[in-house]
Amino acid sequence: MEKGLHERDLVGLQDFILLEDYQNETAFVDNLKKRFQANLIYTYIGQVLVEVNPYKELPIYSEDDIMQYTRKHFFEVPPHVFAISENAYRSLTEENRGQCILISGESGSGKTEASKRVLQYIAAASGHISTVEGVKDKLLQSNPLLEAFGNAKTNRNDNSSRFGKYMDVQFNFAGEPEGGNILNYLLEKSRVIHQSGGERNFHIFYQLLAGGDDNLLKELQLKRNLDTFYYLTDGDNGNVIGINDADNFRTIQKAMTVIEISPKEQSEIFEIVASILHMGNVGFTEEEGKAKILKPESVRAVSKLLGCEESMLSAALTHRTIEARGELVTSPLSRESAIYARDALAKAVYDRLFSWLVSRINQSLHPENTSRKNNVMGILDIYGFEIFQKNSFEQFCINFCNEKLQQLFIELTLKSEQEEYLREGIEWVPVTYFDNKVICNLIEEKHKGIISIMDEECLRPGETTDLTFLNKMNDRLGDHPHYVCHEFASTAVQKTLGRDDFRLVHYAGDVTYNVNGFLDKNNDLLFRDLKEIMSRTKNSITLKCFPAEEYLDKRRPNTAVTQFRNSLNNLMEILMCKEPSYIRCIKPNDLKSADLFDDSLVLHQVKYLGLMENLRVRRAGFAYRRSYEMFLRRYKCLSKQTWPNYKGPAKDGVQILANELGYGAEDYRMGKTKIFIRFPKTLFDTEDAFQL
Ligand code: ATP
Ligand code: MG
Repeated sequence: MEKGLHERDLVGLQDFILLEDYQNETAFVDNLKKRFQANLIYTYIGQVLVEVNPYKELPIYSEDDIMQYTRKHFFEVPPHVFAISENAYRSLTEENRGQCILISGESGSGKTEASKRVLQYIAAASGHISTVEGVKDKLLQSNPLLEAFGNAKTNRNDNSSRFGKYMDVQFNFAGEPEGGNILNYLLEKSRVIHQSGGERNFHIFYQLLAGGDDNLLKELQLKRNLDTFYYLTDGDNGNVIGINDADNFRTIQKAMTVIEISPKEQSEIFEIVASILHMGNVGFTEEEGKAKILKPESVRAVSKLLGCEESMLSAALTHRTIEARGELVTSPLSRESAIYARDALAKAVYDRLFSWLVSRINQSLHPENTSRKNNVMGILDIYGFEIFQKNSFEQFCINFCNEKLQQLFIELTLKSEQEEYLREGIEWVPVTYFDNKVICNLIEEKHKGIISIMDEECLRPGETTDLTFLNKMNDRLGDHPHYVCHEFASTAVQKTLGRDDFRLVHYAGDVTYNVNGFLDKNNDLLFRDLKEIMSRTKNSITLKCFPAEEYLDKRRPNTAVTQFRNSLNNLMEILMCKEPSYIRCIKPNDLKSADLFDDSLVLHQVKYLGLMENLRVRRAGFAYRRSYEMFLRRYKCLSKQTWPNYKGPAKDGVQILANELGYGAEDYRMGKTKIFIRFPKTLFDTEDAFQL
């Protein structure tokens, strides 16, 4: 059986550290291609797993496959997401080291699928007593539920996660899952009110309309016809090949039951979802500059579903109250402002419903008696670096997140590399690499960075615009090596940069951001009147999502980017004390095809994922290392002195082998428990087919 596994992996190099021409990008991509074409989608760079999305179901995720990886050492079996999972799981349960699995890659590259495989592995590898099964069920079922509310069809991926997710799985003394916790990041809430051509709103809207039974739809005052809902008509028509919304609706109903979301809560959730569809249909006309509601029946539907006064909701949708010098002043809104206010309400209600759902799942996953804090495995499935034709506030946040993750990578891997050499008592010369801290500072440094400038401008509404924000950045950051603006650029660069653009030289490449909409998105304003009415609804979920303290509070809430930065910093703290494993996902083509490997598209991702640098750093030290026992077991056949029966200490046996292989003093080091080899090629040449 095991032999079969190995034979399967004969094509290409299964670890890039064996790549002779390791600075050659073409050679790198060629190896990935060779393997992809042989259905070998996994390859290592040392301990980093690179995956190319196969876009077809491969028979490599069965119970049998899981067995093949259970209790196997990382390097004894071909590269696989299960090997990474096994490694992390054993380090966690046997050595008590907190773990995190960090998955990155661009949209459609397979991050979410990989995260599910990790969870599948953990569920299968751990105990099977009934209490544990309950927790596992909840952990697994949280996925379809969050996907229904947080994923959507985009032009890149039919099931694209529109939020970042970090999930902690907590284990008990016996190595069984006993609970979990999910953190969510930056849901793309603008999708609720608008979708680009060919894209859809969040799955749940279509699932409810296709799968809800007649009674439910009647109660929610919904017609099945998608055309009747303004918020669903922007993008694609609702039906997507390969997605069965009705079936998926039943799946999430079951998931809700497993997660112990009560029938009353379930009804309230659907009432909120329906109310958003009705909100989109409200519509306004204008008389003498004042907005008038066009379809009172839609307001009526919203007020009935959420449980609030129709007249108050109408008033809140068409008026705005401002507190000025201790007095409340109410004035009517123009049609344009009313539309803005309504859309802001729909986005806020959906966004907060999503966060409520996450906290509700967490409540259900909370272990009854937490035994140990250390025994946690985190899985991070978060948006990769984004460079579009037009990049806005959202890409700015996402790319900032990737800069932070790169910082973490540097700290954790290079630091741990250094620590291992230290632990093993080996001298080494530190490797040079690009430290992107300078870019993180450019973005987040207090009082100086882009975020501070953006927040400053948001503090002076009325006086500022996106352009004043841009000018301020140009003034203060114009001479920063990673900031480029039209004003100070050379003529050649100016041609590639609009007057309302700025460019950041990210670690992964240059990105040009268009400044339009930055301040508005950062302010993320929801008028007080709407917050107030939401805080008076009878729906217990909206009531929790909009506490009265919020609209009564005179302090400004944190801006969107500041909230995001705070949550990212919190994430960094969580990850910093864990041992990381990396999965880097790559999309082979833009057509979701199983047969196409687009070299230039892959090369692009190899660069943005920093894989070449990764390999260079790994090769610069001692690329290959094994414990003496492992090494001896594997290679004792290479010397008559160690084969077949070597009885002495493992370290001495390995020394014999090193001598026999003709290693020079610079080629290797003997550590306390391991041998370190600079270029493993010399070793592997001695074997017909390197199968480790
Ligand atoms: P996004 O950033 O948009 O959320 P993602 O990186 O999470 O994208 P996935 O949703 O995991 O991408 O994968 C996209 C699609 O690719 C899946 O729906 C599936 O069809 C296919 N896919 C990904 N990984 C695999 C795999 N290991 N085996 C088979 N198909 C896969
Ligand atoms: Mg995803």
